[in-house]
Amino acid sequence: AVHAYTQLQTGLGALQRIEEMLAVPVEGAADRPAPVPARALPGGAPASVEFDRVGFGYPGGPPVLHEVSFTVPAGTRTALVGPSGAGKSTLLALVERFYEVTGGALRIDGVDVRDLPRDALRARIGYVEQSAPVLAGTLRENLLISAPEATEARLRAVLDEVNLGHLAERAPEGLNVQVGEGGVLLSGGERQRLAIARALLAGPPVLLLDEPTSNLDARNEAALRRAIDAVAARRTLLIVAHRLSTVVDADQIVVLDGGRVAATGTHDELTGTSPLYRELATHQLLVS
Ligand code: ADP
Ligand code: MG
Repeated sequence: AVHAYTQLQTGLGALQRIEEMLAVPVEGAADRPAPVPARALPGGAPASVEFDRVGFGYPGGPPVLHEVSFTVPAGTRTALVGPSGAGKSTLLALVERFYEVTGGALRIDGVDVRDLPRDALRARIGYVEQSAPVLAGTLRENLLISAPEATEARLRAVLDEVNLGHLAERAPEGLNVQVGEGGVLLSGGERQRLAIARALLAGPPVLLLDEPTSNLDARNEAALRRAIDAVAARRTLLIVAHRLSTVVDADQIVVLDGGRVAATGTHDELTGTSPLYRELATHQLLVS
């Protein structure tokens, strides 16, 4: 219960930041009167994510998503690509139920997300934002928020997995090194890897990841790719991808354009069939 509660807190933290950015109420829409008990979702095992003719528009705005259909099979990796404004980040927000779909349905392991208590949903679905927040405080504090009982050895192992081991090694205070405001400045790449480390510690069966758009140097790019590989193991991953190196390994790529699915396939398939995918791939996908 402590574990789920902390994941919830982490989710709420992300939610509050989303709220600040998007100016929506934290609660979102109310749960349905009789949500399915949380145990309808198996705790540890990866879960499938199904978009079934999903339509959506922000309150008072025009439709943003039109009949979006695709499934991320349990334990596989799907990359979402498309021009800026295509609706990629909005799709992730719908999975976490920051907003409700206005058409069709979104299902986790076959269960409509509207039938799941929101806290249970968010305990199972991790979310790594595009600009990952770093708390004012130490490296240890930044990691323990998602796993308060993790041992020193586990924290160090996870840092190594995301190529951040050097942060603790180069400082005499080790994991107690300050990384937040007024502390050691982390690069954009390091900040997101720290967020991925938190997701690894929390261990949600489904992970949503909005990859940073910023250009990374080769070393940081390789480190990010290794971190994503670590987090994708034994997990269902839906990742908004901005770099070719992230999509080539995906089990499935969904090309979104103007709120519609323009094409689905692997890198090799889409290179042959989708002019938009070819264009995005040529430009290294580096669009917001
Ligand atoms: P992408 O991540 O693919 O760049 P987004 O999902 O951020 O696209 O945006 C899709 C569309 O929804 C855009 O037209 C954008 O302007 C609009 N949009 C995004 N967030 C909001 C919001 N909070 N309120 C109203 N419109 C929004
Ligand atoms: Mg986006």
